[in-house]
Amino acid sequence: MSMHTSGIHHITAFVRNAQRTADFYAGVLGLRLIKKTINFDAPEVYHLYFGDEMGSPGTIITFFPWENSRRGRVGSGQVGYTTYVVPADAFEFWQERLNKLSVDYEQTVRFGENYLQFVDPDGLKLEIVARDGGKESSWSFGGVPAHKAIKGFGGAILYSSAPNHTADLLVSLMGLERVGREGAYARFKAAGDVGNLIDIYMEPMELGHGGSGTVHHIAWRAKDDEEHALWRDHAAREGLEPTPIIDRQYFNAIYFREPGGLLFEIATDPPGFARDEEPDKLGGKLMLPEWFEAKRSQIEQLLSPFEVRVLEEDK
Ligand code: ZN
Repeated sequence: MSMHTSGIHHITAFVRNAQRTADFYAGVLGLRLIKKTINFDAPEVYHLYFGDEMGSPGTIITFFPWENSRRGRVGSGQVGYTTYVVPADAFEFWQERLNKLSVDYEQTVRFGENYLQFVDPDGLKLEIVARDGGKESSWSFGGVPAHKAIKGFGGAILYSSAPNHTADLLVSLMGLERVGREGAYARFKAAGDVGNLIDIYMEPMELGHGGSGTVHHIAWRAKDDEEHALWRDHAAREGLEPTPIIDRQYFNAIYFREPGGLLFEIATDPPGFARDEEPDKLGGKLMLPEWFEAKRSQIEQLLSPFEVRVLEEDK
């Protein structure tokens, strides 16, 4: 049986500071903080989710800000670049915005498309591309009006320690289509209209190591719990030893490491982020799973407060 993911569900990365991360992903990029919770395995660390107005699958980047953590190195076995897509007419807007907010970038071309490439304050590699299609965000923040806002992920560049194996797996397991090759990059397309163009860097490169400024894992979409169970069987049949299904409150997850060293997750679209907060209140309050509620006051004392704020330079 062949299965097809719609594309990226979310990407999770390590950073060092919650305020600096909010100032970049909300302040500069104009994303919405859609959930403020904790790392369920390490409750002294936040787990912050940023995305479009509802945190739709394909728009969600999540962070564990570990103060004073070791800086990682981006390299093989990791997501290299996380790609954001903006409306087709918004490229110049973003170029001007990065200039205005003093974010250094380089402009590059890949598969005939222009990219603005830059890093976040911890060194995480990001890029912006402008494309038609996909739902526009209805979220505006600071100097980013909704009609220029990031629509979600355009895709990602994967750095693999076995690029040919990763390429085969994207096609045979995840159901992507091989759509092009240009220079060092091979391009693959998933069925959805966001988070759907995945490039693999096909040349050998140094091994990455985890730490701040690196992606921990990339999650792919399963449309519901029924399909999720099939994905797990599918991955197990391929010998990938997926974890059991884990309840992540806002989606269910399985994880496995692909042959090129990247940690893959498959996550369900439902139930989403409005399961414990009203849509207009998302991200407003520290949300804890039930089993941590009794310890709320101790947990809150361990976390540095931060706010989502419009940057001074953006007023
Ligand atoms: Zn995840």
